[in-house]
Amino acid sequence: MCISCRERFSRRVLVRLQIEQQSVIIYSGIGRSFYLCEICATNQKKQTGLAKRFRVNETNLTELLKEILKNG
Ligand SMILES: [Zn+2]
Repeated sequence: MCISCRERFSRRVLVRLQIEQQSVIIYSGIGRSFYLCEICATNQKKQTGLAKRFRVNETNLTELLKEILKNG
């Protein structure tokens, strides 16, 4: 389930992420993680909301998501 829109996805891409030391990173396999769908990951408003929710730097979050989606 996407943490942002709370939709369940079967085919659409979900990105698995985690928070570590106030920044969002790709899930490392340890600790708590969450999923974000491709739609929310590319939505600026959702990104702003997530950055506020997790108290992380919005620019970093945006850049990371851009990288992830670019690399598939
Ligand atoms: Zn979503």
